[in-house]
Order: sequence, then structure tokens, then C-alpha cells
Amino acid sequence: MPEELNPFKEAQQQLDEAAEIMNLDREAHALLKEPRRTIMTNIPVKMRDGHTEVFQGFRVQYNDARGPAKGGIRFHPQETLDTVKALAAWMTWKCSLANIPFGGGKGGVICDTKKMNEAELEALSRAYIRSIAQFIGSEKDVPAPDVYTNPQIMAWMLDEYATIKGHNEFAMITGKPVDLWGSEGRVDSTALGGMFVMREAAKRMKINLKRATIAVQGFGNAGKYAYELSKELFGSNVVAISDSQGGVYDPEGLDLDKLEKAKKATGSVDSYEGKNSRKVSNDELLKLDVDILIPAAIENQVRGDNADKIEAKLLLELANGPVTPDATRILFERGVVDMPDFLVNSGGVIGSYFEWQQNVSGYYWDTERFHSELDRFITKSFRDTMDMQKDYASKGKKIPERMAAYVIAVDRVARAMKARGWY
Ligand code: NAD
Repeated sequence: MPEELNPFKEAQQQLDEAAEIMNLDREAHALLKEPRRTIMTNIPVKMRDGHTEVFQGFRVQYNDARGPAKGGIRFHPQETLDTVKALAAWMTWKCSLANIPFGGGKGGVICDTKKMNEAELEALSRAYIRSIAQFIGSEKDVPAPDVYTNPQIMAWMLDEYATIKGHNEFAMITGKPVDLWGSEGRVDSTALGGMFVMREAAKRMKINLKRATIAVQGFGNAGKYAYELSKELFGSNVVAISDSQGGVYDPEGLDLDKLEKAKKATGSVDSYEGKNSRKVSNDELLKLDVDILIPAAIENQVRGDNADKIEAKLLLELANGPVTPDATRILFERGVVDMPDFLVNSGGVIGSYFEWQQNVSGYYWDTERFHSELDRFITKSFRDTMDMQKDYASKGKKIPERMAAYVIAVDRVARAMKARGWY
């Protein structure tokens, strides 16, 4: 992997930048620059043809000064330790900014789930948990679903852990099916959290969401719900949406039924047909003349080579890492408000915290309570971020929204480490 594309180097650079802005103690900086613990496992699984496949797995506990490590498990053929380390670092900042009692972690297994049948997937899920069982638990490290893992996989993992421990411990993992005490309301919590951030940012920027035009990149869990919720909650006009093959643009707005039919018929939303619609590539979608752009697909989409062509006034990073560090600088100089990923998509982990909290207490909420608590938490994170940015500006130092969020998150973790006597 070329140096500039190494995600962990990128995470370290972002920390360095924040450390300089906030004048972070040297010891705290050194402690936060590397994970506290990295677990690497070799996992044997008997496959359907009788041979044993050995999979490589990771679990990174980046920092647990503020509480148990928290972060998803990815099953991906191109998984690398550096990706897992970067994501674990970002989880640390995400949980800290959200002010929930967790540190940051992440896990992964190098595997291609598309080539595995259900029995093999279950065997791998259980074997992975056996290999890390002594290091995880509701008070140590709490995994969740991520790329190519889902509530069913969480259920198998919970069951395996319960078998090892000899008792149930529902709070050891989140993103479970509701039948196994997953939380009502969690399924669209990432997008809903993003919508609350959009509402607050629009208020400050005097964007009328009822009249606003929006382009969404991605038609998965994050993008599709963002599309639906921005229409449902604010009556906004979503004029463009895409998936990995391409997208569609219609200035009059898009119809969900038609989008789903197009996706089902051809595998892509780009075959959508409306009165005034036309196909757009993913690159064109990013540069459309809209009020709000929501990248909700994959990383590195807004880069140094296209950041100066972004027309949107507000960029809402619902995906992880959609804006590269050089693009962040360009957008900032051009006055585009760029709400950072670890704020915008923190609704997912805040939802996980609610699930963990309900599992620990044994008292369960309804969806209404889940939504109003999510609103309260994420709106507070947004306001903290904007206040921090204002604070620096009043001292003559203008910093991007991402750095304002970093300063809050890093400072909270550093203070917890200091209070513990780690430095
Ligand atoms: P998903 O797999 O459900 O959907 C991904 C979407 O992106 C699909 O529509 C896919 O076609 C599209 N896509 C893939 N490659 C693309 C490309 N090259 N160009 C344009 N579109 C492309 O995934 P998701 O859960 O919606 O996650 C999307 C992003 O949001 C990721 O960065 C993820 O880390 C982040 N995120 C998701 C959650 C969550 O709860 N789902 C939480 C936090 C962050």
C-alpha cells in the first residue's frame, strides 16, 4: 500500500495536527499515537469440502481510558492491520466526542464472505470469538457489526461467548437482533443521527431544509436511510443518489419506489427513469449544484483533485473517511462547511451505547425514547464542536470543523489518562 494511502498514517497525521493546535502534552500524544493493545489471531475453520482454512483475524483496542473499547468487526478480503488500527483510533475519537463511556476498538478477519456458505460463516464467527474471548466482554471490549457482518453474526458470537463463560452476557456485543435484546431504533440510527446534525448545521447556515436540494452518494444502510429521512423529517428535495455503478439526477426529486425497482431490475439505481432524470457518474454527483452533499458510501471520494469543484455549501460526511486531509483544507479555504465523519455518523455507536446500557440495566426502551436520546446526544456533540471552533476563532485561530471535533475528543481522552496516572 503506498504511504499516502495508508489509513493509519492518515489517522496519526490527523492526531498530530490536533496535538499541535491544542498543545497536547508530549506523553499523552505518544500514548495516543499507537494502540494500547493489538491482538492477532490465526483461526482454523473446517470448510464444506473437508479442508481446514486458516483465517487471519485482528482485534485492536486503541484506548480504554474512558471505558471498554468499542468498535465493529469487519469481514473483508482486503482487511489489513493498518486499516483496523486506523478505524480503532477513529472509534476512540468518535466515542469521546459523543461523550459516551467507551474507548475505541475495531476488529477484522481477512475473508471473502461471498465465497462462504452460511455454515462456514457461522463457524468462522464462532471461531473468531473463541480466539479473542479472553480479551473482550461488556466491561472490557464490546464489538458490533461493520462491513460484511450483521445482527445474525452478532447473535452467533454472543452465543459462543455465552457457551465459553457459562452464562449469558448480552452487553458483550451490540447490533444484535431485537429478539436477543438488540435495541429498538438502532437500525437507522446512523442516518438519523446524521439528520440531526444536518438540521442543526442548516439552522446555523440559514439553509431552509424544506427548500434545500440534496445529493447522496451511496444507496446502502447509511445512504438509503439518509435519503428517506431527509424527505420524511424535513421535506427536502433529494435530487441525486448513486451506488457503486453510478447514479441518477432529477432536479424535480427522486421517487423511492422507482429507485428500488431500478435497483432490483438492473442492480443499480442508475437505470432509474423519471420525467427529467439523467444518469450521473459518482464523480459528477459530487460536483452537482446542490445545497447539501452527503457522501454515504466509501472513503476518499472528495480529494485534492476535485475539492475545488464541490458546489454544495454543506458537506455531511455520513461515510467514514470520504474527505481526504488535503480536500479538508481546500474546502475550509473555500468556506464549505464540512461536518466530519466521526460526528455525523456517530449515531450508530450512540445507538450501540443505548443497546449496551439497556442490556446492562435489563430495562428496555421504546423507539421514541431511543430517538429523543439520540437527538440529545448528537446535538450536544454538534454544539460542542461549533463552540470549540468559535473559541479558537475568537483567539485568532481559524480551524476546520474536523479539527475542532478532534480537539474535544483528544482532550477528553488525555484528561482521563492523566487522572488515571498514565502520564
Ligand atoms: P452498505 O454496504 O450498506 O452501502 C454502501 C453503498 O455504497 C452501496 O449503495 C454501494 O453500492 C455504494 N458504493 C460502494 N462503492 C461505491 C463507489 N465506489 N462509489 C459510489 N458508491 C459506492 O454500507 P453502509 O452501512 O451504508 O456504509 C456506508 C458508509 O457509512 C461506510 O463508510 C461506513 O463505514 C459508514 N458508516 C455506516 C454505519 C452504519 O451504521 N451503517 C455507521 C457508521 C459509518
